[in-house]
Parts: sequence; C-alpha cells; structure tokens
Amino acid sequence: MEFTYEMPTKVYLGKDAVIKNKSEFAKHGQKALIVTGRNSAKKTGALDDVARALLEMNITYVVFDEVEENPCTKTIERAASFGKKEKIDFIIGIGGGSPLDASKAIGIMIYNPELTEETLFNNKVMDSIPILAVPTTSGTGSETTPYAILTDHSNQTKRNLGQRVFCKAAFLDAKYTELTPYPITMSTALDAMTHLVEGYLNTNSHLLSDMLAEKGLVLWGECIPQLLKGELDLEIREKLMLTSSVAGMVIASTGTSLPHGMGYPLTYFKGVPHGLANAVLFKAYLKSFKNRNKVERIFKLLGLDSEETFNAFLTRSIHLDLVVTVNEIEEWSHAMCSNAAKLKNHPEDVAYQDIYNIYFDSLSLQKE
Ligand code: NAP
Ligand code: FE
Repeated sequence: MEFTYEMPTKVYLGKDAVIKNKSEFAKHGQKALIVTGRNSAKKTGALDDVARALLEMNITYVVFDEVEENPCTKTIERAASFGKKEKIDFIIGIGGGSPLDASKAIGIMIYNPELTEETLFNNKVMDSIPILAVPTTSGTGSETTPYAILTDHSNQTKRNLGQRVFCKAAFLDAKYTELTPYPITMSTALDAMTHLVEGYLNTNSHLLSDMLAEKGLVLWGECIPQLLKGELDLEIREKLMLTSSVAGMVIASTGTSLPHGMGYPLTYFKGVPHGLANAVLFKAYLKSFKNRNKVERIFKLLGLDSEETFNAFLTRSIHLDLVVTVNEIEEWSHAMCSNAAKLKNHPEDVAYQDIYNIYFDSLSLQKE
C-alpha cells in the first residue's frame, strides 16, 4: 500500500461556529478582505457574523461582493487589485463554491503580484496569502479541497487553476443554508454526492479516501428522504454541510473524474448549475462502469436497494429544460478525450464512443 493524504484545513462545525471561534481570525493578520457573491452572504447572516467576529477581535476589513457564479479570471483580477490596494493580510470567502474558489485564486494573485489574468493559469506551483472559508452551500466542499475552479473564456471552459491552495480554516454552520431555495439545495447536494462517488470510483482512491467516501455516502443517504420531500430541517441541513466537507476531503486526495469533466460544457455553454451538470450524466456513467462490485456497494452505502431505486431518485431530483445537438455532443466528447487530468482519474479504459454514449444516453436531443 502506498498513498499520501493531506487535508490541513482546520474545520469548525456547529451552531455559531464563526462567533465561537473568532480567535481563529486573529491568527492570520490585522486586515481582511471578505469575498462574497452579490446577495447570499448578506441574506444568510454570514457576513454579519464574520463582521461581528472581526470587530470583536479588532481586525479591520474591506468587502468585495461581486463574485458571479462560475467566476471568471477578470473578476479575480479586479478583486486582487482591490486587495493589493487595501493592503490586506488575509481573505475570508463567504458563500458557495464560487466565492470560495475565487478567494483562493485572489489569494494567489495577491501573494504573487506579478501574475496577470493571462498568466494565472500557469503550471508553476504558487502559494497564497491565508484563506478562511464560511460556506453557505452544502455541495462543492471547496472549504476542504485545494482546488479553485474558474471559467476560462479563452478556452471556452471551466477548469481548475492548477494550484493547491487549502483554506487555513473553515467554519461550518448550517443555519446559513436554512433558507436556501430548494433547487439550489438539491443541485449542491447532488454535487457533494458526485464528489463522493467519483472519488470512490477513482484511480487515486486509497484506504483513507475510501473510508471518508463510505461514511460520506452513508450520511448523504440519510438525507435522501428529506431531499425528496423538499422539507429539510436544520439537522439534515447540518448533515448535508458535513457530508459536503467530507466529500471535499475525499476529492482533495483523489480528484474528480468523468462526470465533472463532462459537466463543464453543460455549465459553460448551457448554463446548467454545476451539481445538476454532473448528476444528469450519472445514470449512464454508473451504468458504463465495469467494476460492478464497487458500484453496487455505493447503492448499499446510500441505503438504497438497487440501481433502479437510485436512478428513480435521480429522475425525481433532476429537472432540466435542456436540449442539445449531435454536433454539440461530438464536440464535448472530443474535448473530454483531451482532458488528460480527468481521464487519468477514471480507473477503467474509456474511449471516445463511451463518452459520446454517456452524453447521448443522458441528454435530450434537439429534433431536426
Ligand atoms: P455558487 O455558484 O457559489 O452559488 C450559486 C447560487 O447560490 C448563487 O446565486 C448564490 O448567491 C446562491 N447561494 C449561495 N448560498 C446561498 C444560500 N445559503 N441561500 C440562498 N442562495 C445561496 O454555487 P456552488 O454550487 O456552491 O458553487 C459552484 C462553483 O463551485 C462552480 O464554479 C464549481 O465549478 C465550483 N466547484 C468547486 C469545487 C472545489 O473543489 N473547489 C468542487 C466542486 C465545484 P450569491 O451569488 O448571492 O452568493
Ligand atoms: Fe463539483
């Protein structure tokens, strides 16, 4: 056996995690840049909690609240210039995966001031100023992964920055997700499930990542009845938040594989939310997986009696008004065939036709 496991983020979970652990903020400097999307950090009360914690610790801060969904490099550059001008010491990302990933990229740009929007995606290993995370969605697990997924308009796709930046600390408080609309709750929950599965069926999986994935699948399975009903109490929301972070700990080590690579064009070209973009491919992806023992084990861990039950759950959960053309499927299949990083994480041989078939079987075709 041989593996390396690294997940250095300190995770604080529980009600009022931000206020109760406010001394954590003081470890990282005297002035913070808070990075958020446009609305949810304010609406959920997360920004107020962070502002109060900073005030109580005598830390000053400025706010950049313009991170869009699937953030692009222009936004990162703008926020980084602002942070440099304000001479901030560290970043607190509040929100879903978009602000959290943006925070990591901004942190890299501030730590490496020579970087520009054009040179951000390079292969050098680059450090960042300290990043702290306050998630308000339960899906990406960005708070426990080293990844930052950005929209790369020059290549018309989304991709990982190529750097490994772990947050110094993450504050998980499910109260920030209490009022999350059902479609966002479901899409983000599906993202976490796809992380667990893609990390479990992965070339890089190992004893520890499998232990985390297996427990994560059990926890996620316990949320299925309330997810289906659309009535989620705080206990289930906390379970989803924990599961999402555990799933992040899995992919921190394994990476994701085919569905994530194949889902990016659905988000880039068709605007499909990230979690749905992966999950819509899942029935066909799992059907194509040859090691049936490991696939069957996933259904058991989720507490489901069969693949059919899992597929029925997906059918009830995913509502997509999306039609595609054969041309689009061909282009995306070719693109996936050149995505060496994702392909190498898939432990079985896969050819163009397999990828084409997954898209073809999963998506509705435009009538000629
Ligand atoms: P998101 O793009 O961060 O946010 C989606 C929407 O949800 C936004 O409109 C946001 O509003 C809103 N929102 C966030 N929290 C809310 C709350 N508590 N209540 C109501 N609305 C809320 O969504 P996400 O799915 O969390 O993140 C997706 C991004 O993460 C993608 O770019 C994806 O590629 C990336 N990702 C990263 C990793 C990783 O390991 N780093 C893994 C998987 C996915 P505001 O804009 O107002 O905040
Ligand atoms: Fe994801």
